[in-house]
Amino acid sequence: MSSTFSNFLMVGERTNVTGSPRFRKMIQEERYEDALAVARQQVENGAGVIDVNFDEGMLDGVACMRHFLNLVAGEPDICKVPIMIDSSKWEVIEAGLQCVQGKSIVNSISLKEGEEKFLQQAKLCRRYGAAIIVMAFDEKGQAATKDDKVRIAERAYRLLTERVGFPPEDIIFDLNILTVATGMEEHNNYAVDFIEGVRETKARCPHALTSGGVSNISFSFRGNNVVREAMHSCFLYHACGAGLDMGIVNAGMLEVYDDIEPKLRDMVEDVLLNRREDATERLIAYAEEVKGSGQKKEAETLAWREEPVEQRLEHALVKGITQFVDEDTEEVRHKLGRPLDVIEGPLMDGMKVVGKLFGEGKMFLPQVVKSARVMKKAVAYLLPFMEEEKQQNAGQSSSAGTFLIATVKGDVHDIGKNIVAVVLGCNNYEVIDLGVMVDCETILRKAEEHNADIIGLSGLITPSLDEMIYNAQEMEKRGLRTPLLIGGATTSKTHTAVKMAPHYAGPTVHVTDASLVVGVCNQLLNPKTAAAYREEVDAAHEKARRAFAAGQEKTVLVSLEDARAERWDCDWDKARIDTPEKLGRQLFPEIPVETVARYIDWSPFFWTWELKGRYPGILEHKKYGEQAREVFAEAQKVLADIIANDRAHLRGVLGLWPANRVGDDVELYADASRSEVVETFHFLRQQKAKEEGTPYFCLADFVAPKESGRVDYLGGFAVTAGPEIEEWALSYKEKGDDYTAIVIQALADRLAEATAEYCHKVVRDQWGYGREEEFDAEEKLDDKHLDFLISEHYRGIRPAAGYPACPDHTEKATLWRLLDAEAKTGIGLTSSYAMNPPSSVSGLYLGHQEARYFHVGKLDRDQVEDYAARKDLPLVEAEKWLGSLLAYEPSRVQKAVAA
Ligand code: SAH
Repeated sequence: MSSTFSNFLMVGERTNVTGSPRFRKMIQEERYEDALAVARQQVENGAGVIDVNFDEGMLDGVACMRHFLNLVAGEPDICKVPIMIDSSKWEVIEAGLQCVQGKSIVNSISLKEGEEKFLQQAKLCRRYGAAIIVMAFDEKGQAATKDDKVRIAERAYRLLTERVGFPPEDIIFDLNILTVATGMEEHNNYAVDFIEGVRETKARCPHALTSGGVSNISFSFRGNNVVREAMHSCFLYHACGAGLDMGIVNAGMLEVYDDIEPKLRDMVEDVLLNRREDATERLIAYAEEVKGSGQKKEAETLAWREEPVEQRLEHALVKGITQFVDEDTEEVRHKLGRPLDVIEGPLMDGMKVVGKLFGEGKMFLPQVVKSARVMKKAVAYLLPFMEEEKQQNAGQSSSAGTFLIATVKGDVHDIGKNIVAVVLGCNNYEVIDLGVMVDCETILRKAEEHNADIIGLSGLITPSLDEMIYNAQEMEKRGLRTPLLIGGATTSKTHTAVKMAPHYAGPTVHVTDASLVVGVCNQLLNPKTAAAYREEVDAAHEKARRAFAAGQEKTVLVSLEDARAERWDCDWDKARIDTPEKLGRQLFPEIPVETVARYIDWSPFFWTWELKGRYPGILEHKKYGEQAREVFAEAQKVLADIIANDRAHLRGVLGLWPANRVGDDVELYADASRSEVVETFHFLRQQKAKEEGTPYFCLADFVAPKESGRVDYLGGFAVTAGPEIEEWALSYKEKGDDYTAIVIQALADRLAEATAEYCHKVVRDQWGYGREEEFDAEEKLDDKHLDFLISEHYRGIRPAAGYPACPDHTEKATLWRLLDAEAKTGIGLTSSYAMNPPSSVSGLYLGHQEARYFHVGKLDRDQVEDYAARKDLPLVEAEKWLGSLLAYEPSRVQKAVAA
């Protein structure tokens, strides 16, 4: 550390269960020897005080505090420094005060709950001879501005010195270090507010001390330690200059002020001291460069700036650096004269390099999307100049082709579609993105308007397959021959070959991998390759259709009656059925993102970016590791922003009801008397022939049958990451920053899934058996618990309508009535029963020990007729929704033939 900090007192932060999972684990496992070693290490590393905290739902805070402090008292090399007793619970603080020897510091008291309580706690601290941390909080909340900090400190100072006779040198004001560079303008001055607040407080409250939690300042750069360390050092440099006496820090995360690379230091100081409007943007751009590079020196990082401007643009495009785009673009514009020449020259050349590297597997999807951001920024810069000479450019177009893309009617999900659009855009295609829930009429009208060369349809849920077929049929009716591209989660090569291509005489190609789409389009549009490619596609379709037909022939189904006779069953007299402590609907209007974030299963986040592997291993993956770490860091930044700026409002509704199986249905009752049926769920049963003794599964079987006489339970839930986060993503897309938009959308999906996981834990606990899982819903989860959750190794399941065990999406209508889900959460259902906002999850809760997921698989006519009757639906209607599961020619086709 530089000498500037020589009077600064470092408070060690590692003996804190809320801040250190490692320490918490030691305490939970009662490894107090190890815990003492942590304390000792901090003192050895220069901590002048150690902060001790046991605030954790699962721990007995009073007992832990007593035990630990008594042990510390026997360790001279630890207890030579004062202890900071840290808790939000007064009884824990008092337990600590009773154990420590010598002078201690209480962390903390505040005016949050008014003067009376504040004075009473201060008096007790005084009696124990302790110093106190006073947080700059009052009845109105946390002080963010300099004036509020000083006002609250002064008020507390007066009360303490005048009413309690508190020695001023025992008062330490924590003036709230708040996060800067969050992207919110009102946060830009937070560091200045703190520094100036310290200066003023020291002047107005003689002898009192000041403190703060330093790592907060750099929270928006989580994952980028180079920048964080620089921020901490610069911040302390200035805060100590203003009189800051102490701070909670991780001594290992402080770079020597004078050793900070000067350019980085300047940019950090621009941010901290709020010296220029674009300070945050510049630091973020710069941070991208220094990230992971450790000690990389400026000369090395910026060497490319010495290259000729064309190469600089190429470098920026390949590396995804937006920082210098405007100036470089301007330079080339001057050189070449016409803006269009800039686009078609150096910019397109750069993008070609990107396309080539991507094609060769040397660049990955996140990088390509970042390149697109650079390209868009350059084009945006040139746009005003292009307007000027519009006349000259009229009629000129040199794009590779016009690609019209849409998520079909009834469907809302569009991350994959957005990625495809960006990749095509990078490869000189003009992309017309119609967004989500686009009906056939609009798609075809817009295709004509824009003279589209290719139409791409995307869909996530199974009913979209039908909608796509309808689109293909309409295109045929109008005599179109425009190539049709099919993509999205439920689509498949087989479905495209069997169910779609026969309806349309134009080329119909299935593409899910964004990295393949450009190759497909190029082949389709190049007159030299188009015919041969078409033949290739047709041959592949023919092969797929034959394989499908052969599979169909081999599939043997048993009758519904026989399948029912071989159902999964158990001894219902003895079966364990737990009674939930709460029944009926429960609303969770605002679930904290911090709580839910711990439940995130990160692996699918990487899949969105075509980085195949599992988290956390993927971060070290030979091929994908570097990219994975980069998008992951970006996601952490976005997550921090979401938390700091309250951008997502996670909400949900769920409930459990008394229930019984009746046939293949489950009835839900108003109460345990079971006299009033509130809703009935209808389930489907496996019919594909199995070996003797293997049951034909149906979800209803896991609920006690009515004739057993026992009251069982079934539940349901609907949760969402909310519309706000979707709108926030859109705001980036509109600015041309698809990269951030896609990170946000992918993260929104993660949060929705994690909310489902969190709510499931809450429900299992309420149901009783969840409490046997040895961890608490609100706890910071360790790796073992997270693994247990993500692999769903707990008892009970939450099958989702539209998934293989209950493939009928229309059951969501019943769930929505039961939960009053639309009114309670704002999640709507589209005409295809997709949930909107897209980052939403719903399902049922089954609690039986042996309840499991399975594939219902193919259905025969006897079951579909039975199911239609149970649901009181016309057969054709049931057949429509079960579409791809039918093992027979549905009646509507027969009718059409007959007619
Ligand atoms: N951890 C994952 C969770 C989603 S996938 C994530 O964050 O993305 C697992 C979920 O899909 C299950 O909880 C269940 O709701 C649903 N699911 C999986 N298989 C199913 C099946 N065969 N039938 C019904 N629902 C199923």
